[in-house]
Amino acid sequence: MEAALLDILRCPFCGTRLTLVDNAALARSGSEIDSGVLGCECCAFPIVEGIPVMIASDRVRDAMHQLEAGRPNAALHALLELEGDRLEAFCRFRARDDGTYREGLKILSVDAEAEYFVYRFSDPTFRVARAVVQATGPTMQRGGRYIDLCGGSGHLARSMISDHRAVLADVYFWKLWLAKTFVAPHCEPVCCDANNPLPFARSTFSLVVLSDAFPYIWHKRLLADEMMRLAGPDGTIVMPHLHSALGENFTAGMPLTPSAYHDLLEPHHPRLFRDSALLEDVLQGTLDLSRGEPPEALAGEPALVIVASHNDDVFREVKLPDVLPPPDTVIVNPLYRVNVRGKESVLTLTFPTPEYEEEFAAVKRYLPSSVTLPDDVTRGIDPSALGHERYSELCHRLVLIAAPERYV
Ligand SMILES: [Zn+2]
Repeated sequence: MEAALLDILRCPFCGTRLTLVDNAALARSGSEIDSGVLGCECCAFPIVEGIPVMIASDRVRDAMHQLEAGRPNAALHALLELEGDRLEAFCRFRARDDGTYREGLKILSVDAEAEYFVYRFSDPTFRVARAVVQATGPTMQRGGRYIDLCGGSGHLARSMISDHRAVLADVYFWKLWLAKTFVAPHCEPVCCDANNPLPFARSTFSLVVLSDAFPYIWHKRLLADEMMRLAGPDGTIVMPHLHSALGENFTAGMPLTPSAYHDLLEPHHPRLFRDSALLEDVLQGTLDLSRGEPPEALAGEPALVIVASHNDDVFREVKLPDVLPPPDTVIVNPLYRVNVRGKESVLTLTFPTPEYEEEFAAVKRYLPSSVTLPDDVTRGIDPSALGHERYSELCHRLVLIAAPERYV
């Protein structure tokens, strides 16, 4: 972590500032802290592989003691909860320099559905979330900070405008490790539990984002208050894909009604939108945040999007930025199976499971079932061979996506 992160970190329990303890655990290179111990007025927290872990549990204390005993790898393995075969597989994986995000995910996750993360960049939930963040991002104050809460392995944080500093918070250390290693190396991961007070100073972030996770949090009132505290009077809160208790959802969590969500954020002037209506906008290349709906109008709608801000400039219609990614990171969407036949590549849309196909059926609105491209695309994509118009269309339809190096 960057030493500057200490300016905004606070203990989740006593609220005091953190200082770096000068002991055997400390390892830093310049302003970057690789490992160490952070102390506040009530307890201590470890920094493991550059990730501060602001959680008080036996496992985290164990990791801290391993650090202090000069065993940083043991601390990492403790936080990744690795033992036996999985630990061996991880050590082999780390020893290579060509391991991919997908391979790391297979080793570090014990949940089969985690494979879905590989397809995150093109799922409709993510598409809308990214569009809302892109639309509200430009209203951030100069030099402002952005936080993605419960942000998993960093897909949304990676997509944030690059000239703002992004903090990625999640309770799962392994997801943050994958984010820092593969998906979003430039963000600042912080391991913390959103069921507790968040470990940051007040009014720290111009944009506070929580996508697709709020219904799984038990302490919803606390978290809503915490998001408003972090945003302060000038910040904007964005909550994409919020499951509604008045609609049907896969793995719904513990959703509330639209009016209950509205009430939780009422002091911050929330406006509610239909997730499905915003997807329609996104497919047209725009996003209209000027027309929110009253909570009563949203009965039956499975998911909503909330944007809360005292700044009226946020609530406008915007043309979405041209999503053409830099050429060095363009890959074929991993939902396509690629068959190279002579001088062309045939791409066939292939879902990982029938459940995925059902849950994310809306991808068929933009991903064609089959596409034929010139050349062997497994060797890389050549935009000039496709022509500008065709290339733009393939990017807009997410047949081609911008992905980190060593992604799949
Ligand atoms: Zn404390």
